[in-house]
Amino acid sequence: MNTFSILGQDKALRLLARARTSGRLAHAYLFTGPDGVGKSSLARELAMALLCRHTKADAAGCGLCPSCLQMQSGNHPDFMVIEPDGQGIKIDSIRRMKQALGYPPLTGAYRIVLLKETHTMRREAANSLLKILEEPPPGNLLLLTADDGAGLLPTIRSRCQLIALHALPLNLASEVIQQHRPDLGPADCFAMAELSGGSPGQALRMEEEGILPLYQELIQALTSRSQGSTAKQVQSALSLAGRLAEHKNMAAQLLHLLRILCKDALAAKMCRYTDNFNGVQASGQTNGTDTIRVFRERWNTEQLSAKLQSIDRAEQALLRNCNPALAFEVLLLQFFGCFPS
Ligand SMILES: [Zn+2]
Repeated sequence: MNTFSILGQDKALRLLARARTSGRLAHAYLFTGPDGVGKSSLARELAMALLCRHTKADAAGCGLCPSCLQMQSGNHPDFMVIEPDGQGIKIDSIRRMKQALGYPPLTGAYRIVLLKETHTMRREAANSLLKILEEPPPGNLLLLTADDGAGLLPTIRSRCQLIALHALPLNLASEVIQQHRPDLGPADCFAMAELSGGSPGQALRMEEEGILPLYQELIQALTSRSQGSTAKQVQSALSLAGRLAEHKNMAAQLLHLLRILCKDALAAKMCRYTDNFNGVQASGQTNGTDTIRVFRERWNTEQLSAKLQSIDRAEQALLRNCNPALAFEVLLLQFFGCFPS
């Protein structure tokens, strides 16, 4: 039996399998979860399974029949994808979809529409979608994806069967990344899992954008034993801050990781424990434990608390849309000890 390739989303897979085997598939599913955990991939695999000519009710698509081959090549006549165009999904796309839904499926029992990132829909497009969600023409199945935020209208959410996906445990996320990038070493895969907060899709995009080396450089700079002259430190901090600011979309995750490292160092100092730190470094596969050790040895309790406060201030500045380069400069100058927190 073919099985779905999505890892770490067992509850979602069980819900879908139960619906299929009992013949009680909903008319619309909403896949929610953080960016990069597999929402669209799972929706595509479900579509392939439902359109497959040979598969059993709880299995994945066979991968060999004409329908599966059409899905794999992106040319299935009964599978349609609506995705954001620029800022979000536009009403014209919803209108085109509604027009297509007026005709019966061309090849089998279903026509399936995948609507990606529906939290980006403008109200006008969302209202237009509402009407078709209320009364979808027979033979059509809508698969929506959205993040966990508040961007999606509650009225859309309430008309769909919710399938919640979650960030993966770091070891599992690392495994998925390794499957896609066998050229990378295990430590790099784990660092990417860590940096993305357990979202393999996001991790792979970050690797393409060169964010992993930047993160490693940040950790290296913060843990380096010889920090050089003050002038050199200021120069390093400013240079690094400028490059970090270019990836503003990753700022929250970077600050989150820095906070975990500082909190663990503070906890280790206060509780006097040295091993089994919780959080990102639990596997011991990364330099997380070393980083915490350096933080713990370098700074006292008050200094670590001040570092945590400076992370809070940087986060607040970014939320207020302040200049990200400036927010990172202030943060890193404080971390590098160029001026008091
Ligand atoms: Zn098939």
